[in-house]
Amino acid sequence: MTDATGLGPGERGGGFLAGPPDPEAVFTPEDFTPEHRMIARTAREFVAGEVLPHHDRIEAKDLPFTVGLLRKAGQLGLLMADIPAAYGGLGLDKAASALVVENIAGQGSFQVFHLVQTGIGSLPIVYYGTEAQKRRYLPGLADGSVLGCYGLTEPSAGSDALACRTRATLSQDGRHYVLDGTKQLITSARIADVLVVFAKVDGERFTAFLVDADTPGLSFGPDEHKMGIRGTTTCTVILQEARVPVDNVLGEVGRGHKIAFNILNIGRFKLGALAVGMCKRALEHALAYCLERRQFGRRIAEFGAIREKLAEMYARTYAAEAAVYRTVGLIDRLLAAAGGDHGTAALRSIEEYSVECSLVKVLGSETLDYVVDETVQCYGGYGYCAEYPAEAFYRDSRINRIYEGTNEINRLLVPTMLLRKAGRGELGLVPAGPPPVGAGPLAGELDRVARLKAVAVRMLALARDRWGDGLAGRQAVQLRLADLVLLAYAAESAVVRAARDAARRGPDRAALAVAAARIACETAVDRAGSLARQVLVAAEDRDGLTALDGWLGRQPVDLLALREGVASELVARQRAY
Ligand SMILES: Cc1cc2nc3c(=O)[nH]c(=O)nc-3n(C[C@H](O)[C@H](O)[C@H](O)COP(=O)(O)OP(=O)(O)OC[C@H]3O[C@@H](n4cnc5c(N)ncnc54)[C@H](O)[C@@H]3O)c2cc1C
Repeated sequence: MTDATGLGPGERGGGFLAGPPDPEAVFTPEDFTPEHRMIARTAREFVAGEVLPHHDRIEAKDLPFTVGLLRKAGQLGLLMADIPAAYGGLGLDKAASALVVENIAGQGSFQVFHLVQTGIGSLPIVYYGTEAQKRRYLPGLADGSVLGCYGLTEPSAGSDALACRTRATLSQDGRHYVLDGTKQLITSARIADVLVVFAKVDGERFTAFLVDADTPGLSFGPDEHKMGIRGTTTCTVILQEARVPVDNVLGEVGRGHKIAFNILNIGRFKLGALAVGMCKRALEHALAYCLERRQFGRRIAEFGAIREKLAEMYARTYAAEAAVYRTVGLIDRLLAAAGGDHGTAALRSIEEYSVECSLVKVLGSETLDYVVDETVQCYGGYGYCAEYPAEAFYRDSRINRIYEGTNEINRLLVPTMLLRKAGRGELGLVPAGPPPVGAGPLAGELDRVARLKAVAVRMLALARDRWGDGLAGRQAVQLRLADLVLLAYAAESAVVRAARDAARRGPDRAALAVAAARIACETAVDRAGSLARQVLVAAEDRDGLTALDGWLGRQPVDLLALREGVASELVARQRAY
């Protein structure tokens, strides 16, 4: 049964909670087409050949050089996946767009230049520009001859972006808006040819503007000295009576919040893809080092303490990757059904899956911080030294929990959006029973993931019934609800991905995937038990506390042996990917 959107209940945003997934409808990295794989390879080879050899120069902030690299990427088509062919782009699907971002990952600063150019710096025009604006800016943004940036944050408006104080006043002749205010922490502002800037018309109506770099009254503060991504430029943007033609209003006056939030949604799944790429690169380095470094007469990869790290890094990355591409697949499917990636259909597709976009942003960035932290540990003292790659990975990854909406804000959005959907009748908060026990190497995990989802749904319904609107004042509960949903999404994505892989290739050939998914599932169930218990205690639900273990259907699983199996395979084949 479908609703007015044409989507069945399980296909809507957040709908994965509603019942068992249709495995065949879940997009996985094993579903990439030859074209997807080709563009991924192009990106990887470009980074290996043109970017990584110049790491020091990029990190020393040689901006003309790095801009030149960005333009080279443009010539190879690596900036234009999301730009429609009619405006000089390739108009590829979101899977291709995410794959480019994933495979550009590896050099901390360059990947951010790329992410800004292909995301927040150009997509506002792709989705909200007038025909004239698209014709003017998109071909250059596609080939890198025009650089973009995105100015939302202000000194007093960070997470609370709508508290923006930058004002826009219509000139007396009605031909310009005059912008006054300050934006801060804006990446690539100094090198951008066009800046997407948010301001309030008459101090009230939040609106996006396209500000050309040569606009009189536009200037920049000094660059911030940052913990990581030091080769990027991040600075204050000062607007003093900056006159912007009325034709440069982006979208509608007073509707800037739609642009700000929808573009952040896209930014979030792309950031998830970037994080997966960084996880893979970091793990490759960690594994190579552990195979080479000897202590006590043995390679450190032979020590159980190190093997466990390698296995867990692999398993968490596997789950994050599964969740990112599942989300991308949902968006692509809706885009295809809507007749393509353009106009309101595209925006609705992205808005529909805003819960999933927040989930993969948090999951990707936190998986990455775990992976790079363990990478430093694998390198020991050298992990702390700039001569080795772990140190830069560690510093460069930390930003991902802060921008594109902090992880706190993204977590808070998850229960808020889900309960709103439930209130509108788009999502039933009735825990589904576990599916009939099936066959295959992951039958038990499919059962436990279904139970985990049902517990997440129960806790959402409990919080709604117990606190109602007062839940907004109980952030500690909201964060735990978000984590329950996150664990369920990540674990289910991993288990379904591996189950499909095993069904196609056979359990033996898919053994590594199966083991990774089992680790992801068991650790998720374990954590979910503790989180749900905290929610139940806070809600004073004694019956729920008694029932919890039964709901989760926990089974003794030898996680240590599973991790050892993954580590053995990685060490034997001497590479992770
Ligand atoms: C390197 C870098 C590059 C950036 N690039 C850009 C860019 O290109 N364009 C752009 O517009 N911005 C950019 N930013 C800004 C970035 O998006 C903001 O820093 C981010 O949104 C957080 O805002 P804030 O720094 O004001 O922190 P605050 O909003 O002050 O948050 C501080 C802390 O309080 C928490 N918090 C805030 N509100 C709540 C709440 N309601 N409930 C619970 N916790 C809350 C936050 O999660 C955070 O932990 C960049 C920042 C950095 C560091």
